[in-house]
Amino acid sequence: MGFLKEDKIFTWSEMGQYLSSYKRLGIHQFIELYHKYKSNTNNAFVWGYEMEYTLIKKDDKNNFKLLVKADQIIKQSNNDFWKPEYANWMLESTPSVPFNNDLLHLLLIEKYLINEINLIKKQLTDNEYVVMLSHFPLLGCKVNHFSPQPIKLYNNYSLSNTIPDNIINPHIRFRTLTQNIRERRGEKVKIEIPIDIDKNTSIINDTIKMDCMAYGMGSCCLQLTVQLSGLPDALYLYDQFVVLSPILMALSGSSPIYQGALSSHDTRWSVIEQSVDDRKKNENISKSRYSSVSTYLCEDSKKYNDIVLEYNKEDYLLLKQNGIPMILAKHIAHLFIRDPIIMYQNDVDKFTQQLPDNYDFFVNINSSNWNNVRLKPPLSKEDSWKLEIRVFDIQQSIFRNTALMVFTILLVRTISFYNLYLYTPLSKVDDNFQKSIEKEGIDKYYYFRTNIEDKNSMDIYRKMTINEIINGENGLIQYIYKYLQERKLEEYIPEINKYLHYIIELSSGLKNTEAKNVRDFVKHHPDYYQDSKINQVILNDLIQQIIQ
Ligand code: GLU
Ligand code: MG
Repeated sequence: MGFLKEDKIFTWSEMGQYLSSYKRLGIHQFIELYHKYKSNTNNAFVWGYEMEYTLIKKDDKNNFKLLVKADQIIKQSNNDFWKPEYANWMLESTPSVPFNNDLLHLLLIEKYLINEINLIKKQLTDNEYVVMLSHFPLLGCKVNHFSPQPIKLYNNYSLSNTIPDNIINPHIRFRTLTQNIRERRGEKVKIEIPIDIDKNTSIINDTIKMDCMAYGMGSCCLQLTVQLSGLPDALYLYDQFVVLSPILMALSGSSPIYQGALSSHDTRWSVIEQSVDDRKKNENISKSRYSSVSTYLCEDSKKYNDIVLEYNKEDYLLLKQNGIPMILAKHIAHLFIRDPIIMYQNDVDKFTQQLPDNYDFFVNINSSNWNNVRLKPPLSKEDSWKLEIRVFDIQQSIFRNTALMVFTILLVRTISFYNLYLYTPLSKVDDNFQKSIEKEGIDKYYYFRTNIEDKNSMDIYRKMTINEIINGENGLIQYIYKYLQERKLEEYIPEINKYLHYIIELSSGLKNTEAKNVRDFVKHHPDYYQDSKINQVILNDLIQQIIQ
């Protein structure tokens, strides 16, 4: 989730006096790193993933609960690829060595994931399991959904009435984030999404209401980071993946249930977006700090940037005066409308010291703007510009996660190779984004560019199905196959086909998204009373079938 350090950490009120100096220094850090590294090139394409796993325990009554001991597992295991995440039932992994352009690496992903899961399993005892689950459906229903069950409950960080703070990862960063977000906002976070109404659903309460960060940041995702050849390539691909992110999101939808109720959303996005929304009541900012982006980054994308982009004018001028190109300057000044939510005591010492190559303040602000895509600048000479793709709900199976990775990495290569031009007005992309979050997002119509080869084409966009976008005559899959052939990579096609065929089936409706499978499972379960509610029996059966 970002940036972990061991040090005394400030509360929101302690931070107040330092905020503006911190942010100003963060802007200067960006200016410095931009000029130092703007021409960094790295011809070796490198990429990696981030997988978030969930720990589960079956108790003596055969009920599944969240196993709250990720911190112990990380401590016990001697591997550098386990990272703590927000909830202490989450374990995050990143491959210790990044993958490169060799397509063979795509065929190794499954092995890597199996290996990771086996490594976690070694640390588990009887009736403890690791699963890939984007959201635990009964989270927040009862306190005894945790194992070990916390004895002395506390909630002073979140003030939640439904989830105790005991389940937050004990690293001080996570608890302080919770408290500082709430304090900055001036009240507890409020999360609300509609229930998916069924025949016997009580419509007096037709929304699911949740009251703390754990509902969102306790959810699990798959992220991909690609290191590109240089800044121009990174800006260009960033923009193309802004357009693609709703499509990728809809393909990955796997979280239809919250707090024991079927919701009208298929993905975790809206819940997590609201769960860290730290905006003050009187603050005129249109989106949460966890949201879709509000600007494309390439200079020639200007005419497609048609939504409000709030940015700090002084920061923008400073960036411009220091040679940062206009749109990039606006993007950075936009990131800096957010305050740092975490500040450490020794950060204050850095206000007066000149530390070489220290970009912490910039990195902290950048990594707590949780957007659908993220631009990550190099922090050293050897590094290059990176793009992080952050939309995917995690999938319940290794195969499905792998298929999303293979498809996305091949898309990056193909789009770059043919210089595809996906720009669609950002307002339309934001419309797409909202649709992709919702129930049956996969079946909706999306604004998409009609001609993705000719940037001067007058016929800009129309509504299309995901099937058409991916499998149509000029669909993305055709370009991927063309790329594999033109690059003389046909030898990989038979192996890669199993993943691409899955994407073809998913996008054409021949296969269901996981969200749809979960909904169908619930609806056909004998313990489901057509009231939109999920009980422990249904949950047990649901979890049983995804245990690896
Ligand atoms: N767990 C978060 C999600 O599901 C992501 C946290 C992170 O940025 O690593 O989106
Ligand atoms: Mg993470």
